[in-house]
Amino acid sequence: MSLNTVVGFPRIGSQRELKFLIEDYFQGKIGQKELTQKAAELRAAQWRLLEQKGVDLIPCGDFSLYDGMLDTAVMLGAVPAEYKELGLSGLDTYFAMARGYQGPRGDVKALPMRKWFNTNYHYIAPSLDSVFSAALSDDAIFETYAQARSMHIGVKPVVIGPYTFLKLADGSKEQFVPQIAEAYRNIVERLERLGAEWIQIDEPALVLDLSDEDKAVFKSLYQTVLSAKKRSKALLQTYFGDIRDIYEEACGMGFDGIGLDFVDGKQSLALVKQHGFPKGKTLFAGVVNGRNIWRNDYSKTLPLLNELARDADDIVISTSCSLLHVPYTLDNETAMEERYRRHFAFAQEKLDELGEIKRLFGDENFRQSDIYIRRETLKKEKQQLADRDVRIAVSRLSDNDFKRSPDIAERAKIQRTVLNLPPLPTTTIGSFPQTKEVKALRSSLKKGEIGEKEYEMKIKEKIAECVALQEHIGLDVLVHGEFERNDMVEYFGENLDGFLFTQKAWVQSYGTRCVKPPIVWGDIKRTKPITVGYISYAQSLTKKPVKGMLTGPVTILNWSFPREDVPPKETAFQIALAIREEVLALEAAGIRIIQVDEAALKEKLPLRKQDWHKEYLNWAVAAFRLVHASVKPETQIHTHMCYSEFDDIISDIDDMDADVITFEAARSNLSIVETLRKADFKTAAGPGVYDIHSPRVPSVKEIVQALKRMLKNIPKEKLWVNPDCGLKTRGSEETVKSLIHLVEAAKEVRAGL
Ligand code: GLN
Ligand code: ZN
Repeated sequence: MSLNTVVGFPRIGSQRELKFLIEDYFQGKIGQKELTQKAAELRAAQWRLLEQKGVDLIPCGDFSLYDGMLDTAVMLGAVPAEYKELGLSGLDTYFAMARGYQGPRGDVKALPMRKWFNTNYHYIAPSLDSVFSAALSDDAIFETYAQARSMHIGVKPVVIGPYTFLKLADGSKEQFVPQIAEAYRNIVERLERLGAEWIQIDEPALVLDLSDEDKAVFKSLYQTVLSAKKRSKALLQTYFGDIRDIYEEACGMGFDGIGLDFVDGKQSLALVKQHGFPKGKTLFAGVVNGRNIWRNDYSKTLPLLNELARDADDIVISTSCSLLHVPYTLDNETAMEERYRRHFAFAQEKLDELGEIKRLFGDENFRQSDIYIRRETLKKEKQQLADRDVRIAVSRLSDNDFKRSPDIAERAKIQRTVLNLPPLPTTTIGSFPQTKEVKALRSSLKKGEIGEKEYEMKIKEKIAECVALQEHIGLDVLVHGEFERNDMVEYFGENLDGFLFTQKAWVQSYGTRCVKPPIVWGDIKRTKPITVGYISYAQSLTKKPVKGMLTGPVTILNWSFPREDVPPKETAFQIALAIREEVLALEAAGIRIIQVDEAALKEKLPLRKQDWHKEYLNWAVAAFRLVHASVKPETQIHTHMCYSEFDDIISDIDDMDADVITFEAARSNLSIVETLRKADFKTAAGPGVYDIHSPRVPSVKEIVQALKRMLKNIPKEKLWVNPDCGLKTRGSEETVKSLIHLVEAAKEVRAGL
């Protein structure tokens, strides 16, 4: 009989225990000892759960207090000098790298944070400086392994592999290949000595386009790493795609098992069929989707496994990637009706599926089993969810629906006269700090402690305060603050038809931050105004323009759990039509600037270049244009994107045809602004002048410098001044100070123009 396993499990805990624990630590409510101990308990509980569910190979090392890449960096001693020099404890140095540090010992920014492949998880990008020696300088992985062994749990240690680590790190990396290889050789050796059987080495970077050089680095690393192995078995675990560029070579190397993704890996099956699978090795078949919440389609999975069994003599049934990307358990969804619930499997339920698949796999008569028959009936239910009117509206779209006129240069002239803003206008990205008070308000509404009316009144009070604060600070374009929104996507999900939302289906986004993605259940439509009330109210309080604040179709889709049986383009256009109605309603209500956030546009860019346009950008950019193509020339359309790594798709961003784009830049050293100049970027731009993911307050001088550098590359008529992203995760005090500095800096630079 085959064994089963998971690539990794959500570490945040079924009730987000880890998040609250770490936040308590940040706030000084608990000390290091309590944090470490409670984290160990959480880990242990998780192993027990997997054991109970009958998972054969239980991962360990997939747990983290902040992020796995950061753990790997610390393990290898990649702690840049400025963090070491703070002289903090090991744990606080770790958190300083993650979040920056500002206090009695110094003032250091956080390491850059980037998207983990095409997911909504973010990792901390390690930085390899000249003192980096790749000596094993942290024993966490061995200690965790020992903890599991002491509980008599047969675990599979997991590490992020050396190739992926190097690929995602910053710094001149080539020189470190031999040291890193040696460090990993040590890890394998030590884990083996401690008794490890399977050692899982995650190399998701193998699913990217690989150059000959990349392949050479990969091979050279593993020649060393695998030379340590005697009794233990090395699993090369890949995910988020297929490894077409290196499949044959990888099969020929000294790995004992290879983990392939059969969900997102379009060519994984074809690779096995075409080149076979090496005798005597184990295929870890990723057949349970680690990134979506629909129940597994056994009518596809079982034949697939049978097909694979013709080539691979040993198969371990596994997930397509770590379950980190799905919520913990459906058990938390006490309010979800059974007619919905039966269609889903969150992380814990996927463990049951792995058990069922294991039982059915190899049974020739699986089609007669009760489990199988029940699944087939479910599938039919889903096919009945289409909304005829919505489908027709999408099918009738024509070129005109996607083209705004006049062109951007013409519009800019018109808008300059109408809006009459100073040069280098200052603004924010939308949200203001979501204080305890605001969160408490929402939760009392949910619990029924206060009524809609009272809630609305309180939110309006917050809006009024926020508008007054912005006027006081002297910002030019104001926002209402987004106090009514729990989350930029969930809020729209709740207000549009077709989405299903959950109570506690949290997924880790970065560090202690979790998001609760809605589920695309049926076809999407707008049945009522969503934002018009609060935005108009905010506008009624001030003469300055207030930005209408919406989330764009691509982001709503990318941050939801999509259908697996409806093409993403269809869903994106359905959402775009709904948001278009809201845009036009805002315009009709007299709102002169409307921001449509596409924070997550870059996120789902296919990992291979050849798929970028065909499979994604063509419809994603079109969906955004559909949202605003029919507004008046004088209405200024803004968009916002998190993370500025869009050098490669800069012309596609320009093609979205917004009037202004704001984006993250402070953490990536502003290199993007040079790219804008070189690309002759048409859209006006507001590269973030300070990092909002950290509580640090930027100085006026620092912002002035950033602006001066930006002005070398962006014409003064096209430059906006704003923070990186929304301010909702920040504290009020640091926010006010930072914004005062921002306005002061803008004034100073303006004066010198
Ligand atoms: N308007 C949103 C906010 O300010 C944008 C958030 C984001 O880009 N992630 O919160
Ligand atoms: Zn953002």
